[in-house]
Amino acid sequence: MKQEVVEQLVEAAGKGRLDRRAFLTLGAAGAGTILLRPATAQAAPRVKTTANIVIAGAGAAGLAAASHLAARLDGAKITLVDARKEHFYQPGFTLVSSGIKPASYVVSATRDYVPAGVELVEEGVAEFDPEGKKIVTSSGKAIAYDYLVVATGCKLDYAAIAGMDVEQIGNNGLGSIYHSPAKAEATWRAMSNFADNGGVGVFLRPGTEMKCAGAPLKYTFITDDYLRRRGNRGKAELIYNANNKALFSVPIVHEKVRMLFEDRGVKVNYERILESIDLGKRIAVFKTALGPIELQYDFINVIPPMRAPDAVRNSALRWQEGGWANDGWIEVDKHNLRHKRFDNVFAVGDVAGVPKGKTAASVKWQVPVAVDHLVAQIEGKESSAHYGGYTSCPLITRLGQAMLIEFDYKDNLTPSFPGVIAPLEELWISWVMKTMALKPTYISMLRGRA
Ligand SMILES: Cc1cc2nc3c(=O)[nH]c(=O)nc-3n(C[C@H](O)[C@H](O)[C@H](O)COP(=O)(O)OP(=O)(O)OC[C@H]3O[C@@H](n4cnc5c(N)ncnc54)[C@H](O)[C@@H]3O)c2cc1C
Repeated sequence: MKQEVVEQLVEAAGKGRLDRRAFLTLGAAGAGTILLRPATAQAAPRVKTTANIVIAGAGAAGLAAASHLAARLDGAKITLVDARKEHFYQPGFTLVSSGIKPASYVVSATRDYVPAGVELVEEGVAEFDPEGKKIVTSSGKAIAYDYLVVATGCKLDYAAIAGMDVEQIGNNGLGSIYHSPAKAEATWRAMSNFADNGGVGVFLRPGTEMKCAGAPLKYTFITDDYLRRRGNRGKAELIYNANNKALFSVPIVHEKVRMLFEDRGVKVNYERILESIDLGKRIAVFKTALGPIELQYDFINVIPPMRAPDAVRNSALRWQEGGWANDGWIEVDKHNLRHKRFDNVFAVGDVAGVPKGKTAASVKWQVPVAVDHLVAQIEGKESSAHYGGYTSCPLITRLGQAMLIEFDYKDNLTPSFPGVIAPLEELWISWVMKTMALKPTYISMLRGRA
């Protein structure tokens, strides 16, 4: 798509000629701050209350929830609890590990986004006690609440891979784009070295639920592109290892990626889960139905299993049975994010035990819904706000092009601009959204303005 078309979209949006959903989602998908609407939360009259609300986790979802609650409530005591002082813009990790942005691009301070009147307790939550309506921090301080919003994100369980040592990321062909800004940058150095020399590149995703399931695929495409640009694709073999029978949970996206991988000469193995790694010998061992299979690599992008953080996983908040119980995802109603057994508890962001939605783009749609239900409860009313599973992934397929994949719980593709941005086409505009417009939109989301 051409620049003029984007400008026309922007102009049409400004004149109210786009339908409301397209207009709002253009902001969500990352078309730049120019399109951001004032949040409806801020337009509604504020509700007077003395409610005591604790938000566990001050990442994307926790900060957005704090901003929405502060805007909607007058007099509430709102406390954010998170030990991490730095805020990480994680959608940018892929760009850092691809040499497109420096690590500083994704790091800022949590305090910069804490709304006025909201208290930030710089400690982790060590224990959730939903029966006692309190949390206990890592220093042993109990904090009581009337309402709890859990937004602790995922734990990256590198320790579950025998032989893995995160300190070695960047050395000896070991990459991992998920760990941190510094390790994303170290991964770039390892991948760039591989693109200079060729060899065997091994890519994978974990057997658990994960945030941004498109990221492992993106990084395979980007590595392929660097090899081609440096004239070394013929010297390399790229192998992608899927955890199950699909490359992506949405069937039509799976098929598109499968075709692109075939076209680019990326070999695919299905039903392989990384269980151990020998960093010195550069051997990865995968669990398969036929027993363990070893792959020798020159470069590997390790993506660890992801679970709820221990404090959540060890609490009564987790699913009690079914596929999400073991990893500790929180048992919420998938349409309103309210806990199924504790009606004063909500979970938003990656920690919510819902079928899709582990992206920052999902947070944008989840938080206003959960907040609307919480505020309605304070008022003694019912909310009809509904989250349909919106999830979005700008799937980079080469430098300068991406597919803007948007979908819902039912695996429907939900393109924000039907007829304008085709979800399964590799487009320049989708690349622009990912690399330039998504971050300002994300920052506005933290402030409750998107
Ligand atoms: C490599 C990569 C690429 C991505 N690409 C995209 C993309 O292109 N588009 C997209 O929309 N999304 C993308 N994402 C996903 C997106 O970043 C997450 O879905 C989003 O950050 C989820 O927000 P969250 O608040 O649930 O978790 P986070 O933002 O991770 O925040 C969780 C917070 O909880 C805190 N916490 C953890 N445990 C506790 C505890 N016990 N007590 C208190 N606080 C705790 C943490 O310190 C952290 O601050 C990507 C992520 C990665 C890693």
